[in-house]
Amino acid sequence: MKIICPDCKEKAFLSDDFTFVKCDRCGFEMTYGEYVKYIAHKDARYSDILSDYKEKNY
Ligand SMILES: [Zn+2]
Repeated sequence: MKIICPDCKEKAFLSDDFTFVKCDRCGFEMTYGEYVKYIAHKDARYSDILSDYKEKNY
């Protein structure tokens, strides 16, 4: 199954049994559990960046 790679935003591959995620383009490879945490962490950082941006440009 195809998903989006969190690092390069290209198509990554999620194994059919949902055990691992792999991106051939940048070499990203994680278990699905790690991948979910990684995405959550990235999103949190992204939200921080957005709030910083708002404050600076207020
Ligand atoms: Zn990638």
